[in-house]
Amino acid sequence: MIFENRNIYRQFNTRLLGLCLLAVMAISCTETEKKEAAIHLDSTADSTETETGYSDMERAMINQGLKDIQQIVPDIMVDLKYSSSDNFFKTDAYGDTHRAFLQEKPATALKVAQYLLKKKNPNYTLLIYDAARPLSVQKVMWESLDTIPSRNRKNYVADPNIGSIHNYGCAVDLSIFDLSTQKELDMGTPFDYFGDLAYPRKEKQLLENGKLSVIQVMNRRLLREIMLTAGYDPTTSEWWHFNFYPLARAKKNYRLIE
Ligand SMILES: [Zn+2]
Repeated sequence: MIFENRNIYRQFNTRLLGLCLLAVMAISCTETEKKEAAIHLDSTADSTETETGYSDMERAMINQGLKDIQQIVPDIMVDLKYSSSDNFFKTDAYGDTHRAFLQEKPATALKVAQYLLKKKNPNYTLLIYDAARPLSVQKVMWESLDTIPSRNRKNYVADPNIGSIHNYGCAVDLSIFDLSTQKELDMGTPFDYFGDLAYPRKEKQLLENGKLSVIQVMNRRLLREIMLTAGYDPTTSEWWHFNFYPLARAKKNYRLIE
């Protein structure tokens, strides 16, 4: 959440041969695959949104212009980790909100990512852990860690006074789910693991010293490859987090989600 500078990631990318090859692959397949994805988008752009059954928080997000991701990508999976106590702060911050929302452009980009993923393996699907996050939820997360001094707390969660890209509906946390095994792909750590093992910038070293397996690194690279091609940027510290816009651009384009 704090290392969201795309330039830092790209500096690492140029130093790591594996990631460099991945970037070349992503660039080389971008044009043709994006064209194919655009055709796919056109042919499936007729889904209509119904507001039946939305929670108050979900309805508020719709009223602020956010899109229900599953209305745009019907086969994407959603398991909001902050809508249960199965998270790092052991608190259900979303209550009866279980759907994932994003601004329209990032949500549409996920349709491209899902298309590219299914081309790689039809049994795979994206699994969303968190997407647009109202400021009220950010505050719950921040205050739940009140035993940690605020200067250190920023290592775990963005300060609500500064805001996260999630708070503008332009960032998503996600993984890949295998429908054939009914399991998430092994990424080496669970979601919201705070430590070196989750850092994309340390993968080469973690692979060399046996802390991550080849399969785990390949799974992460697959996720990054499709997300990069779809228009998202990864971060250096969380394999699951992707930004559609940097924070300054998100703030310029959109209002903070209340
Ligand atoms: Zn995130």
